[in-house]
Amino acid sequence: MPGFELFDNMERDQLRDVMDTGILMRYGFSGLRKGHWKACEMEAALCRVAGVRHALLLSSGTAALTTALAALGVGAGDEVILPPFTFVASFESILATGAVPVMADIDETLCLDPQAVRKAITPRTKVVMPVHMCGAMAQLDELQAVCREHGLLLLEDACQAFGASFHGNMLGSIGNAGCYSFDFNKIVTCGEGGAVVTNDTALYERADRYHDHGHDHRNDDRGAEDHPFAGYNYRISELHAAVGCGQIGKLERFVAIHRQHKQVLKDALENLPGVTFRRLPDPAGDSATFLTFFMPSETAARRTATALKAAGVDGVFHWYDNNWHYIRKWEHLKTRAFAHPLYKPLLDAMPDYANTAFRQSDAIISRTLSIAIKMGWTDDEVRTRAALIRTTVQSSITQ
Ligand SMILES: *Cc1c(COP(=O)(O)O)cnc(C)c1O
Repeated sequence: MPGFELFDNMERDQLRDVMDTGILMRYGFSGLRKGHWKACEMEAALCRVAGVRHALLLSSGTAALTTALAALGVGAGDEVILPPFTFVASFESILATGAVPVMADIDETLCLDPQAVRKAITPRTKVVMPVHMCGAMAQLDELQAVCREHGLLLLEDACQAFGASFHGNMLGSIGNAGCYSFDFNKIVTCGEGGAVVTNDTALYERADRYHDHGHDHRNDDRGAEDHPFAGYNYRISELHAAVGCGQIGKLERFVAIHRQHKQVLKDALENLPGVTFRRLPDPAGDSATFLTFFMPSETAARRTATALKAAGVDGVFHWYDNNWHYIRKWEHLKTRAFAHPLYKPLLDAMPDYANTAFRQSDAIISRTLSIAIKMGWTDDEVRTRAALIRTTVQSSITQ
């Protein structure tokens, strides 16, 4: 899956451009940089790929989520609805703005259940934040309808779904704003990096300022620029942007390879009694970075994960037992272990996650297994792996 699997001279050449001038910062120094603006280049490429008017490249996907929320005006007293199956960054970014993360169940799409979202809405809800998990889409049409009905904003956490689409539109480009991650494990990587994309010019401007100490970026002299509001530093460096410039042109090829490899593995599990697949609202838009399927029970899922690992199949995830992606193991959130005190009204408003049950999500995630798709496999390796997965899953179902 990770884009680093297929690094080549594209990334090296881009990096050499940057080191030839030594200008590692994305802003200023225009006289010294010999025309190299890697962050700007990657942003232009992102606009083309995602089909959006604006893209802002930042230091991480977490920074992108935090910046997007801040630019949407989310803060003290607001609630943001998100799923309990995601990466911890989703709730971290909400807490960073001082808003309350309100979790609503997922369904068999492994993303937010629109009905559960409806039930979680209160007068304080401001944003619905679906997370397009494991390379594929939430039910964006229904979630958009919920947002329209209730006057809410839609922020797509597409950090795991760069390259995936819904009815022809790229994930991330459909809500009021969308976020991508280009960290080291994502399908396209900058080493570390992320992006906010949007068609809303005012929102983009707020994000652009917030992510760089409030700089209005209206000048080539940073010291002379104005600061209409306070921000932070979530800037990307030219070195990271250069790696991204080398990668982003390969996205189409990366997705094609994933789809091809995934299809072989999926075919191998087709028609195995007891095995069913994740529901994809638009199968044609899947970026195919994971093959995700359901086992008949939690025990069967755990047993199968263990058996697959023992058989030498790497990249197998039983998310129910995972420390980072499902609420069951988020002891720090449940016990409210934060590095510094949070404002009391925020803590008072936050659901008591130590005593909140997510039965519908539990019933799904406890039976869910994902296998990460690698691009580097040869055709032979894919076929051998597919056969091994089939026999291992089959024998652990009937055990
Ligand atoms: C990777 C990821 C993020 C955060 O990205 P970083 O670049 O690692 O900060 C956020 N949300 C989800 C769902 C992710 O998978």
